[in-house]
Amino acid sequence: MIAQKISLNNDKTLSIQWDDGHNEIVSLTHLRDECPCAECKGETILLRTYKPEPKPDLPGKYELKNAQVVGNYGLQLFWGDGHSTGIYTWKNLRDLCECEECVKSIMNSDEEQNEQS
Ligand SMILES: [Zn+2]
Ligand SMILES: [Zn+2]
Repeated sequence: MIAQKISLNNDKTLSIQWDDGHNEIVSLTHLRDECPCAECKGETILLRTYKPEPKPDLPGKYELKNAQVVGNYGLQLFWGDGHSTGIYTWKNLRDLCECEECVKSIMNSDEEQNEQS
């Protein structure tokens, strides 16, 4: 799965057109909150997860300044507060999709988990 076209809408959401025909919509706040870098998500070392200290939000945190394709596996995003260490793999990006279809399927799988517990 590879992104064919990535575009920014009104500085609020990103549209990604996938090679399987899916049109992804994801908000920049959601993207930034799910930044996969060690600084944001913590690191797992010897099965222990080290969570980073929460930091105050800097201005521009949710402003996307630039995006660069990394090799053939993902996308590096450059944020308005200077943060750019997160590299989102194509799978990361696809999992963050907030289109109606994907949100619905996430809600369905949550219901299934509730029934089991
Ligand atoms: Zn990060
Ligand atoms: Zn979707």
